[in-house]
Amino acid sequence: MPAPRDIATVVIHAGRDVPAADPVVLPTVRSVNFRFASAEELRRYFEEGGGRYIYSRYENPTVRAAERALAEAEGAPDAALFASGMAAATTALLAFGAGGEVVSAPQIYGGVYRFLRDEAPRLGVRVRFADPSDLATGSALGPDTRLVYVETPVNPTLRIVDVAAVARAAKAHGARTVVDSTFGTPVLQRPYVLGADLVLHSATKYLNGHSDLLAGALAGDTDAILRVSRMRRMLGGNLDAAAAYDLARGLKTLAVRVRRQSESAMELARRLARDRRVAQVLYPGLADHPDHDLARRQMTGGYGGVVSFVVPGGLSGASGVFDRLRLFARAASLGGVESLVSLPLLSSHHGYSETELSRAGVDPGMIRTSVGLEAVEDLWADLDQALG
Ligand SMILES: *Cc1c(COP(=O)(O)O)cnc(C)c1O
Repeated sequence: MPAPRDIATVVIHAGRDVPAADPVVLPTVRSVNFRFASAEELRRYFEEGGGRYIYSRYENPTVRAAERALAEAEGAPDAALFASGMAAATTALLAFGAGGEVVSAPQIYGGVYRFLRDEAPRLGVRVRFADPSDLATGSALGPDTRLVYVETPVNPTLRIVDVAAVARAAKAHGARTVVDSTFGTPVLQRPYVLGADLVLHSATKYLNGHSDLLAGALAGDTDAILRVSRMRRMLGGNLDAAAAYDLARGLKTLAVRVRRQSESAMELARRLARDRRVAQVLYPGLADHPDHDLARRQMTGGYGGVVSFVVPGGLSGASGVFDRLRLFARAASLGGVESLVSLPLLSSHHGYSETELSRAGVDPGMIRTSVGLEAVEDLWADLDQALG
């Protein structure tokens, strides 16, 4: 074939002869498709079950590298990344819950709670909600239970669920356990190592840590991750390669960020607990927290960057403090380097019934903070002036 001369043809095919580099940071492979040399290579790909890249909804090298990093962090054999925490949760629930029963604590992320309450039953997943203590003893589980779904620490009360006990009880009933470890991060707790089958993250929060991308993750053993990544191929909730690069970069500072955020959160929780203007502080690092002993056993190196507290006067009292804050940004979400504040009643738990609110332990006067990387004295000065 004569060498092509047309500019379009030339530039589209140029650059393939540049020598391979050995870059220090992860390359971002943005290609959605990968070349095959021959029909024979394609035949082998399909008959021998993968082993290379074909299309980025199946696997992508940059996404795969970020998945390997997260798996290592969790002490799990493998991990799968998703376009959001909700994509990770719904993919896992459909992969493992369909045709059977999912038993969940009601104290879970609102989006997952609403999916289980309103949508999953229409998709052939039976759902029951049970108290975490009845999940830990196994008394809430039945012969059809396929999946047990819990979150710890719980938003916004920071209650702690006993992962080892829940996983043991689930296993005895032939069910798998999924633990949403978004608030804990692998720096402070490793649910897979404690016996859970799948660890779930909204990687939007601490794992990325900079409030600038949406991502989700599941970590677990090779078979479970293969099952969810097969489901992901069909549901299509994949993470983009550019976002996977950013997430992998965020992971490099995860341990440094989370340790510092936990230290600052502990200090603010102590000061709030001593303050007469505050009715109650919810932080698992405080000795009077209902799950402090369990938190001490289950978590290492800190209790996380989220501190909730209750002020007198219900929603209007909390709204006053909320509106007076200057450094804490009034914004949803958590886990970034900037400190945030939210009112659970007007964010994560908006639209919950009275019964659902009391079951979730949400007081109308509750304020939730996500402690960032600012100097702790600056954060305290802001809280102090806002409390009035
Ligand atoms: C934010 C969050 C989710 C949902 O994740 P997205 O990335 O927003 O889809 C799930 N669980 C917890 C605990 C969360 O905080």
